[in-house]
Amino acid sequence: MLLVIVSLLIINVFISRLILNIYVEQRKSNVLIRANIVANETKNYLTTNAMSNINSIAEEYSKEISGRIIVVDRTGVVRGDSNKEYLGSTFRHTEIQYALKGQTSANIYNFKDYGHVLYVSVPAIFHNRIVGAILISVSINDIYREVSHINQNLYLISAVSIVLIAFISFIFLDFTFRPLESFTKAIDGMTKGDFKQKVEINTNDEFKNMADAFNAMIMKLDQVDKQRNDFVANVSHELRTPISSIKLLSDSLLHQNEDNISIYREFMEDISAEADRLNNIIYELLALVDLDKEKLHINYKTTYMNFLLEKIVNRMRPLAEKKNIKLTLEQDERIQIKVDSEKIQQAIINIIDNAIKYTSEYGKVQVKLYSQSKWCVIEVKDNGIGIPENRLSQIFDRFYRVDKARSRKTGGTGLGLSISQQIVSLHQGIIEVESVVDKGSIFYIKIPNDINL
Ligand code: ADP
Repeated sequence: MLLVIVSLLIINVFISRLILNIYVEQRKSNVLIRANIVANETKNYLTTNAMSNINSIAEEYSKEISGRIIVVDRTGVVRGDSNKEYLGSTFRHTEIQYALKGQTSANIYNFKDYGHVLYVSVPAIFHNRIVGAILISVSINDIYREVSHINQNLYLISAVSIVLIAFISFIFLDFTFRPLESFTKAIDGMTKGDFKQKVEINTNDEFKNMADAFNAMIMKLDQVDKQRNDFVANVSHELRTPISSIKLLSDSLLHQNEDNISIYREFMEDISAEADRLNNIIYELLALVDLDKEKLHINYKTTYMNFLLEKIVNRMRPLAEKKNIKLTLEQDERIQIKVDSEKIQQAIINIIDNAIKYTSEYGKVQVKLYSQSKWCVIEVKDNGIGIPENRLSQIFDRFYRVDKARSRKTGGTGLGLSISQQIVSLHQGIIEVESVVDKGSIFYIKIPNDINL
């Protein structure tokens, strides 16, 4: 609005100046023409000093232009005055002085009593000699009145335009920015912790796109909030179980009356096992939190996957041998890819560890390395207990275990697969699984050959 008002003001001032100039210039040239005519008609008489003729010419033209005409001879003595006031006296007006020197002049004066007056003077020249001068004074108050009238109209039009623009802008802005209210309401709700907000916008413009993006963001935040709550609930639950066991076992010990060292030993072994479990859970939780934090700090190095797998399998072999499980590694080609070897090692260990854990004694765990189109594949196949098909989609969830009791016995925390999946997806890879209950499972860790860094 301020911009509109300032622009209109500037335009008004400019237009009124322009009109005034045009009117004044027009009047000046009109009066100049008359002055030259008077000069022409009086030049003869000025040489002979025929005052009455000069005066009557002055009177005649003064009526025509509604102004005063003074004619002086070359000495400055007034020979004709349409008002008859200065006849015979010497006139020393500036414009007359100029005219007697041969110059034409036209100036505007602003008098307190008369207002704006235009003074025009021209020399009267006869046979190339200045024989006198003509001075015409005309009131141009009518021009100023006219321009001020035009000005008034201009300001009136401007005022009406401003009101109209203000009104239209208000309606337009109100209409345009009304959708923002829905955003503000939704954001307020979210600030209070309500992630069920939705911004409803039915227009088909940028606001609609923004509302869609905003709603998607709220949905994601709602999911994250839910996941966070579930995670905290799960962690508390998981931590509480071993602590309860430790508490129960130690209370039983305290209330033991017998001094049976073997009972003490048995209870203490159980307490120690529970403490190990607690330690395991905390260790894996910290690993998960670290992975969340370190998303951007992956230390990629070109690595021979063959050597890495040999190292892992050799490390895991004693664990497999404890259960008389045959752990083998098969690799037909050399594969070199960019990975964070520490992290990827952790992911593979978790999966081989599971294969050993969930396979009965004298079973088989086969690890294979090969490349398949754009992937480097690490296949871990066991002939263990398998996973029911309807559970396959959940095994990567945090704390999910198909058989809680069994998993607890084997020391599982339910975090291993979710850690592995997170590491592999940080490498832009995927983990796939195929399984048949009581027959066994195959896990495929697929890492891109050519990772986009
Ligand atoms: P856990 O610490 O319990 O092993 P994981 O996240 O590693 O947790 O695995 C989740 C669940 O998936 C396990 O509890 C188990 O029920 C199932 N699972 C994982 N790997 C295998 C496998 N090779 N054979 C059978 N079940 C498996």
